[in-house]
Amino acid sequence: MLKLYNQISKQKEEFIPIDSSNVTMYVCGPTVYDNIHMGNARPLVVFDILFRILQVLYPKVTYVRNITDVDDKIIVRAEENKEAISTLTERTTQSFQHSAKKINCLPPTLEPKATEYINTMQEIIQGLINKNHAYVVNNHVLFHIASYKNYGLISGVNIETLLSGARVEVATFKKNPLDFTLWKPSNKESGEVGWDSPWGYGRPGWHIECSAMSSKLLGDYFDIHGGGKDLMFPHHENEVAQSACFFNNCNSEKKTLAKYWLHNEFLMVDGQKMSKSLGNFLTLNEALDKHNGETIRLALLSTHYRQPLDFKTESLDSCSNILEKFNAIKNQYKDVSLVDVQYNNDFISALKDDLNTPKALTVLHSMASTINENKDSSQLPFLLSQFLKCTALLGILQQENSIELSLSVEEINNYIEQRIIAKTNKDFSTADNIRNFLQQNNILIEDTKEGTSWKIKKMSQQ
Ligand SMILES: [Zn+2]
Repeated sequence: MLKLYNQISKQKEEFIPIDSSNVTMYVCGPTVYDNIHMGNARPLVVFDILFRILQVLYPKVTYVRNITDVDDKIIVRAEENKEAISTLTERTTQSFQHSAKKINCLPPTLEPKATEYINTMQEIIQGLINKNHAYVVNNHVLFHIASYKNYGLISGVNIETLLSGARVEVATFKKNPLDFTLWKPSNKESGEVGWDSPWGYGRPGWHIECSAMSSKLLGDYFDIHGGGKDLMFPHHENEVAQSACFFNNCNSEKKTLAKYWLHNEFLMVDGQKMSKSLGNFLTLNEALDKHNGETIRLALLSTHYRQPLDFKTESLDSCSNILEKFNAIKNQYKDVSLVDVQYNNDFISALKDDLNTPKALTVLHSMASTINENKDSSQLPFLLSQFLKCTALLGILQQENSIELSLSVEEINNYIEQRIIAKTNKDFSTADNIRNFLQQNNILIEDTKEGTSWKIKKMSQQ
């Protein structure tokens, strides 16, 4: 039996899917204006583990993780970089996908982009206006929060309390300071990104995209909605409010949008909250420059997802040692023929108990010891097969000791050419971005008098 902590009931519950022939999960994905930071790498790995366990337990799992490719942060960054929005979002998306692969995250079943669902967002917005849950003012469409009595189902926030004490965005045309944006105007003349709509040329607010993509791909009520704890309020509350009001689900079981809501806790760096001002802001790519992807993955799994995680050098070193020890077993017995086995019972039970990955790791350690104690026993093929099956489920010991190139030679040469053009135009930030992107893909470039050359990064530089 799989048990998951449900943020709605605030307790561990038995997971009973709506339809066991197709388990459905939606996780909020990255906003592609820059490389993701380590805090956002945590949910990637946490929900990857859940995806893997669900795949063991059910015949079909549909896992949707979106890409937010329309956002004010994207507009600002593209302007700073003097590049087209699509160039920025495509490069960042590619970089994100490569980094996710390096920490052994399986690709989700579907990875929709927000800009491909503008029509669905407009349908929902129009429906909300028709049902008096939203109103048009100053070329904006705002969700009327007072029209939805269940606000706070996920995070437990209370509208009255928020209103009395909270720091709220000041926009005088709002009926209620907590009303949030569904649609806002874009300046067509100045070329600002936007789409025609019944409420004028503009672009969606952030929250509406997840209601659009989840309903289109998974239906108006699905099994699991996940994300980092930072998204619980207001993002997830707003998703629920929009969807419940649009689909007339306010008074049914479906009023929570998903049956189970899961959130991972925060990540700290060296005991401190990660922030740009403290100078400890760490991106996944920066971590990947120094550490192997599996080491980072193991570090993210060594603390239970509902506990704050301290991402520190010592724990990375110890994870690297653990992987070396496990890999040594794999290599030492590489000639042993593997047999068909079930998962170790203690191991799988730990994972089925609300993804208890630290406990599962403890079981792996004891399995490793048992293998070494039984190296001359007839039990060895069984023990080794079971150990490798379990490590594979955790997504470790999967990388060969060689560099896999994710770009073709033609693509690499193309990027180098684009970088030369950027440098000629004195557009150094784009030039740097391209260099970094290549580096993340294991390509090191060198500028010499003769021109730019490139080489493949060595394993030791990983
Ligand atoms: Zn979302």
